[in-house]
Amino acid sequence: MVESFDVIVVGGGPGGSACATFLGKAGKKVLLLEKARFPRDKTCGDAISGKSMRVLRELGLTMEIERNPHAVIRGVIFSSPNGKTVHIPFPQKPDQSAPGYCCRREVFDNIVFQNAKKFADVREKIMVTDVIRENGFVVGVNAKDLDGKKDVEFRAKVVVGADGSQSVMANKLGLLDTPDEHHCTALRIYYQNVRDLTDSIELHFVDSVMPGYFWIFPLENGLANVGIGMITKDMKEHKTNLKQVTFDAIANDPLFKKRFQGAQAVGPVMGWTLPFGSHHRKCFGNGFVLVGDAASLIDPFTGEGIGNAMTSGWIASQVIADGLKQNDVSESFLRQYDEKLWSEIGAELDTSYKLQRVGRFKPLLNFVVGKAAKSPKVRETISSMLGSEQAKKEFTGPLFYLKLMLS
Ligand SMILES: Cc1cc2nc3c(=O)[nH]c(=O)nc-3n(C[C@H](O)[C@H](O)[C@H](O)COP(=O)(O)OP(=O)(O)OC[C@H]3O[C@@H](n4cnc5c(N)ncnc54)[C@H](O)[C@@H]3O)c2cc1C
Repeated sequence: MVESFDVIVVGGGPGGSACATFLGKAGKKVLLLEKARFPRDKTCGDAISGKSMRVLRELGLTMEIERNPHAVIRGVIFSSPNGKTVHIPFPQKPDQSAPGYCCRREVFDNIVFQNAKKFADVREKIMVTDVIRENGFVVGVNAKDLDGKKDVEFRAKVVVGADGSQSVMANKLGLLDTPDEHHCTALRIYYQNVRDLTDSIELHFVDSVMPGYFWIFPLENGLANVGIGMITKDMKEHKTNLKQVTFDAIANDPLFKKRFQGAQAVGPVMGWTLPFGSHHRKCFGNGFVLVGDAASLIDPFTGEGIGNAMTSGWIASQVIADGLKQNDVSESFLRQYDEKLWSEIGAELDTSYKLQRVGRFKPLLNFVVGKAAKSPKVRETISSMLGSEQAKKEFTGPLFYLKLMLS
């Protein structure tokens, strides 16, 4: 007999696990299907920013992160193409709590995923292969049981696609459409014994890497997440070999050469894709919604997507719960999800896209980082701007740069 649920969530990453948890808490009968067995790795920079922290607090999971291997993050170090470096502390929280963490996704995702088991029927090693449609509505999924090696089918009133950047759900629904200029390709390598790690994440706009950026994010016990990201369109046009560029920067750039002497790569080089939220993908329809990377929601400036994945999962859970209550899961009802989501994150994505465009100009980056490196007042201004969406917008306007020139 085919099993039936209120909601099926496809994918147990942070977006899917958060969505399934909130729906389960709201009393819905939820099935969470995940193709991997947890804990599993996910290629990422492992930075858990302020927005993720908000959802983590709502889920009651911050203490769980504190109990597991992680690093507390209190600021960001930028460097410009001419090699100048500046340290910007994050604004201190009134309650002195951690502004952010770096936590390996093998650890972080497992915490959010295992917590979902308290509220939803969670099944691992089930790989969804297609959506089932009836009368113009998505009503379930076809899947492969990877352990039992058999085809299975599940039915629900609503299906949530939370299956990441290569989403089978988005693909089968004809929505996997992010153009190359709104899409990033990135790779990550774990290193042990990189020198001079601090409690700040590091974003380096290195000349040889531009228009991409190089990152070093500190983790527990001297481990670091090192990576590079570049807009896919640029990468293709410049025929950039990301792996080559990364190893060249590590071996030759004056900023990194000494710091990586004696450092060892731990594990393989891992690459993956980031669909940016500067492209507004349709993420709802009759009987379905998409969340997280499946909905193309990654910040186009910072490359952060965990916060938007969890936030979209949370908002989707509220709209779906309302729809089930009113017995309406039509496209016109679920449109509210798109509206609420974009009123929450749209302005920020817009600002980040503008910042990404500004960040392509080497002289401007040299100028801002140079000014900030010299002036504590400029560093303070940037620090307070990082904590406020409204203020962050100023970075994208000419007035900010004029004020800098005059400062
Ligand atoms: C190199 C790199 C660095 C990044 N750095 C950062 C960073 O530092 N901070 C940050 O916030 N974001 C970062 N991101 C973005 C971040 O990784 C994603 O935005 C985030 O993982 C999205 O969460 P999600 O739940 O939508 O999808 P995912 O985390 O991708 O989870 C999707 C889940 O669905 C499962 N799945 C996939 N297909 C199926 C299927 N057919 N059936 C069943 N299950 C399926 C997968 O196994 C997976 O568990 C980075 C991304 C990359 C590639």
